[in-house]
Amino acid sequence: MGESPILNFTLTSYISPMLRIGLTGGIGSGKTTVARIFEVLGVPVYFADDAAKKLMNEAGELKNKIIQHFGAESYADNKLNRIYLAEVVFSDPEKTKLINSIIHPATINDATLWFGKQASPYAIKEAALIFEAGAEKMLDLVIGVSAPAELRMQRAMQRDNISEAGVLARMEKQMNEEEKMNRCDIIIYNDEKELLIPQVIEVHERLLQNIERVHN
Ligand code: ATP
Repeated sequence: MGESPILNFTLTSYISPMLRIGLTGGIGSGKTTVARIFEVLGVPVYFADDAAKKLMNEAGELKNKIIQHFGAESYADNKLNRIYLAEVVFSDPEKTKLINSIIHPATINDATLWFGKQASPYAIKEAALIFEAGAEKMLDLVIGVSAPAELRMQRAMQRDNISEAGVLARMEKQMNEEEKMNRCDIIIYNDEKELLIPQVIEVHERLLQNIERVHN
């Protein structure tokens, strides 16, 4: 038998009627893959990256702020000009900070509204940047997906067809893996040694047991 996911949490009580869980991990760790397994188990999942893209394309306060700070060129044909915006912010840490300070609160707010609409024992928000954005404050528990750096590098290079330097540049913008995993309450290992599905099922069952205990 392989190693079980580390379940380093005690669930005593939580404020909202439904448990709100974060799911995070470094680039290429397999967060999305793990999130899809939870979905198969019937757990609602909020994909923060997709939600942020949708929010940025909608007319509203977020779009106005982006135009105000980064210019009208940020949109072309009413759609976010991702290539332009990426070029503007990627190599400038101050501009990265600024765009994050605009996008993160909007996504956190949107996720909070989404959680409020779910009717299941628990729901998950999948996001690369949870601790970096301070989003853990609106979550009851955070699950981390852990994978060795070499594997994460290989997966990201293959999936996105980019160079090692390209992946490294993205990795540098994230909190380091060890620190991130230390801050998580539950860790799922996606190291291609431990089977993924049994770990997700174990976490799911333990969560349901804990939720039932809190409610009884
Ligand atoms: P990112 O933050 O970069 O979006 P992620 O953490 O969401 O990444 P995934 O998209 O789930 O990671 O996985 C990255 C790539 O690695 C995908 O192409 C996925 O199919 C592949 N992958 C993930 N886990 C495994 C695994 N256990 N075995 C084989 N391939 C895997």
